[in-house]
Amino acid sequence: MTGENILKLRKEKGLSQEELAEKMFVSRQTISLWETNQTFPTVENLIRLKEILGVSIDKIVCEEETKESKCNADSLDTVCAALAYAMGIEPPAHAAAKNAELANYIDKIFDGQKADRVLMYNPDAIAQWIYQKYPEYLANVKKHTDKEIYLSTVMPSVTPVCFGTMYTGAQPAVHGIQKYEKPVITIDTLFDRLIAAGKRVALITYGKCSLSKIYLERQMDYYHFNEGSIEAVNAKAMEVILRDEHDFIVIYNGNYDSVMHKNGPESAKALAELRLNDHVFAVISHLIKTHWKHPNTLVGFAMDHGCHEIDGGGSHGLDMPEDINVTHLYKGYAREA
Ligand SMILES: [Zn+2]
Repeated sequence: MTGENILKLRKEKGLSQEELAEKMFVSRQTISLWETNQTFPTVENLIRLKEILGVSIDKIVCEEETKESKCNADSLDTVCAALAYAMGIEPPAHAAAKNAELANYIDKIFDGQKADRVLMYNPDAIAQWIYQKYPEYLANVKKHTDKEIYLSTVMPSVTPVCFGTMYTGAQPAVHGIQKYEKPVITIDTLFDRLIAAGKRVALITYGKCSLSKIYLERQMDYYHFNEGSIEAVNAKAMEVILRDEHDFIVIYNGNYDSVMHKNGPESAKALAELRLNDHVFAVISHLIKTHWKHPNTLVGFAMDHGCHEIDGGGSHGLDMPEDINVTHLYKGYAREA
């Protein structure tokens, strides 16, 4: 609010109300009225205030909206080492320290043991604000998970950059993807650590999406389908879950992202795509619960970045809370061995 801003800026300048009033050619009472939001400075007074306080008019009249206060504290780069921790393997060489909250959850749910299996369901562009505003569209995801992790994704907030960070634990400058491009990542990844530990990895995606390109050239099972054929991706996902031959499974569903771009994040069409993600996640959770007999399984619903509305469509890639904030949801299944 303007009043609080004037008060704060005046104190930063070391001025009393009287001193500021004198410079402004107004009464001390007027300053007091401004600072308590009882009256508002005229345009002429704002221009003079800006000169005296040495700041922009924006700084005086805008709500204080600092990035720090609106973006989640933990970075997306902390997820990778936590997943390595879940599997009981070394984190990739450039990974940030493991997400403490997720690691604590893993310790608690598995009673200090490790996960035998991890399945990561990766939707695209489901922003934290969308998840919070439309919980009914993701009710099954909420029902089949019991841990929310609030994260700030990396910049620029576009798919290959963010998924590059999710599975290397490294910042974009380190993993090498710093814009919308899809080169094969050459630094150490979670998949390399899993393979080195003798684990079997499956990556089930569309053939042209970021996840199908940036982690190629590794000894793991790639199941890639034509762009947009989400049915084929999810049919293969169900099959892979039922076969139960992999230790770490990644499933990518980019349906919300593409519809969101065309129609807007809150359009009926985009929200319908959330229902699809919700349904697929419910089926996956059901299959894991009923068909996997391993002692410990960790399942994640983990998106890459958020989104915002623009000109009736949707977009992302900017350094703003709508694009940056995401909520990952996790569930650990611990069973009698
Ligand atoms: Zn997108």
